[in-house]
Amino acid sequence: MENTKKTAVITGAASGLGLAMANAFAEEGYQLVLADINETGLEKVKNTLGENVITSRVDVSNYEQVEGLINLAVGQFGSVDVMINNAGIGPRNLVPVAEYSFKDWDDVIAVNQTGVFYGMKAALIQMLKQGQGNIINVASLAGLKASPNNISYAASKFAVVGMTKSAAMEYGRKKIRINAICPGYSHSALLDKMFKFKPELEDGLKNLIPFRRYGEASEIADAAIWLASDKSSYMTGQCLTLDGGLSL
Ligand code: NAD
Repeated sequence: MENTKKTAVITGAASGLGLAMANAFAEEGYQLVLADINETGLEKVKNTLGENVITSRVDVSNYEQVEGLINLAVGQFGSVDVMINNAGIGPRNLVPVAEYSFKDWDDVIAVNQTGVFYGMKAALIQMLKQGQGNIINVASLAGLKASPNNISYAASKFAVVGMTKSAAMEYGRKKIRINAICPGYSHSALLDKMFKFKPELEDGLKNLIPFRRYGEASEIADAAIWLASDKSSYMTGQCLTLDGGLSL
């Protein structure tokens, strides 16, 4: 019997927003290929979600591994219908540009920017063979507005928005949609780390958000479900902002 289920590949799926997306896509009946560098976290997700889920230890900043991830998905399920480039990191230190370390620059750009390029490239090669596809890149409000003391993160997320728009123009005619999600501050390990580093930010930032609360990972996952579905069929090259009104 022909396999009619859709397959989604999600990077950074062991924690935070990626984990919430894995749960949401599993609930929608997708076949899932989940990637992360955190093998223990992946194991836990697999045990929870079980059937129709495969996991793979992949560093998104390594093209061979990302290519291997796409091949794994195709070998197991026959296609990659949705590719979610979600894996991302922040710098170790939040400091102004003159004090910013070269390591924090290189590491963040390698994962957040080059990793998304690799994910798009490998997925697009497969999607062109299939004649259809849907790519969702997780950018950030930091890809639309200034992020003081966070120069590599800002650079990487503006790049994700730019790559999303450029690639969307290239592949519109090929039935491949490419959009981004720009979350504001949402509960995850990444946010906890930032508050651990600067505890005064936790209440200070919340008071700037019109909703007076941080986003839930499940709220970001719901947006990914919509972007992956035909309900958003006339949309490409856009950045869907979910930030409780912060950017206003
Ligand atoms: P998180 O730290 O909870 O999850 C990120 C996941 O990515 C982790 O499981 C981590 O192991 C994985 N990862 C890190 N480097 C990797 C690599 N090289 N290869 C593969 N996997 C790797 O953080 P999160 O908040 O869920 O972040 C997910 C995405 O959302 C990131 O791109 C982040 O920049 C973006 N984002 C988050 C927020 C927020 O407030 N949480 C806001 C805007 C954007």
